[in-house]
Amino acid sequence: MHELSVVESMVGVVLKHAEGNRAEKVTSINLVLGEMSTIMEEPVKFYFEILSKGTIAQGAELNFERKPLIARCSVCGKEFKVIEYDFTCPDCGSLETEIVSGREFRVESIEIE
Ligand SMILES: [Zn+2]
Repeated sequence: MHELSVVESMVGVVLKHAEGNRAEKVTSINLVLGEMSTIMEEPVKFYFEILSKGTIAQGAELNFERKPLIARCSVCGKEFKVIEYDFTCPDCGSLETEIVSGREFRVESIEIE
């Protein structure tokens, strides 16, 4: 359950941004969640409810945007979308590939009042 510390820092980012903009209330938080991120939506919602209690972010709606898993071939440099965990380069067939995105979890934007 590493979501707790992740949500802690997420709430910190949101409140800092909201207070910097003199917000009275945070209405929604848009999050980016990579396809291969180990973060789950339900625990994020659960911890957010607890950690945002008594703050201006309490009751904000959480919107999750899923990002596909993208890898880059170390041999030919091709970037491709990984489907069903097949990391073979579609251009040269190499298996020497590295993940470019798809593991992230971050606050994309927030809506305030
Ligand atoms: Zn390649």
